[in-house]
Amino acid sequence: MSAKIPAANPHVAAMSPYVPGEQPQGGGWVKLNTNENPYPPSLRSLEAIRVALLNDGAALRLYPSPDSAPLREAVARFHGFAAARVVAGNGSDDILNLIIRAYAGPGRPIGMLNPSYSLYPVLAAAQAAEVVKVEVTEQLSVDVDAIAQCGATVFFLTNPNAPLGVAFTPDVVRAVAKAFPGLLVVDEAYASFADADCVALARELPNVIVTRTLSKAHALAGLRVGYALCPAGVAEVLHRVRDSYNVDRLAQVAAAAALDDREWLDVTVAQVRATRERLAAALRKLGWQVNPAAGNFVLAAPVSSTRAASVETSAHCFEFLRARKILVRRFPHHRLTEKSLRISVGTEQETDVFLQAVAAWMEG
Ligand SMILES: *Cc1c(COP(=O)(O)O)cnc(C)c1O
Repeated sequence: MSAKIPAANPHVAAMSPYVPGEQPQGGGWVKLNTNENPYPPSLRSLEAIRVALLNDGAALRLYPSPDSAPLREAVARFHGFAAARVVAGNGSDDILNLIIRAYAGPGRPIGMLNPSYSLYPVLAAAQAAEVVKVEVTEQLSVDVDAIAQCGATVFFLTNPNAPLGVAFTPDVVRAVAKAFPGLLVVDEAYASFADADCVALARELPNVIVTRTLSKAHALAGLRVGYALCPAGVAEVLHRVRDSYNVDRLAQVAAAAALDDREWLDVTVAQVRATRERLAAALRKLGWQVNPAAGNFVLAAPVSSTRAASVETSAHCFEFLRARKILVRRFPHHRLTEKSLRISVGTEQETDVFLQAVAAWMEG
């Protein structure tokens, strides 16, 4: 009998993978498409990695702390949060996956805002969990009653929202948490760039998890570190279902050092916010329709004297920029994003290059 590969589990056979933003090969690109930080990380992170590699890297023979204990202590210091209620992960994507693995599945749907992060449905599909989407309103706010009644076991509230850019206030999130009869996950990937966050809600309320990443504000996307601030009972559950060594040794020390360097964070975030405001103002002045921007990106609908805002105009502008090696991102599958481009905040110089190309497009 010839060997035959078995079919994948039916729900896995039926699912599609996540589609990440393009990571172009070769140099010369102005890369404003995946919300990475344009600045290098804290030097303290590099120093921590150097120290961890002393003695010809002998420490790499050894497994890291299984529950990322020193890193969780750094998270606890950073937020003033109990270390016992922190769970660290291989990027916050790992954390989101653990939450779904532990709390969703057949007959236990997840809920999410639409539009928001397109990874949630992929993680849900892998656990055979249904997805309930609650639309962001035309005024770019959340419908508290619709979330409360959506029937999900776990609801993912991306705040600030990606790709829209808007932030919902802690009061609104509190109202959602009180009305929703399940676990509310506030995905705060971009909260460091916003005016407020919901860490206090995770501290106080029994059903709120806040997830964070070091990929955006801390400029460590390549290391893959994220964490959850959760109710005590939830932390214990997530530890059960994670890989036994889910954050590697170098990532643990570099992330802890990054969290302890508050000055680096304050300076870098202030710079990114200042560039974001300059970018948004410049696009508004050109007549583009610009969303309120609380993250490290701006969602804006291109227009020119000859082209109104439309799906076609957005595609035309995207291709014009791409031909000049400027990468931004399009989200053509939702009415609130289809006419727009999402532009990550780059360095001052990258922003100038982008704005010059936009000026050339508007003359064309
Ligand atoms: C970037 C992003 C993440 C993923 O962060 P990682 O820590 O790099 O896995 C999670 N949620 C949202 C909304 C993001 O934009």
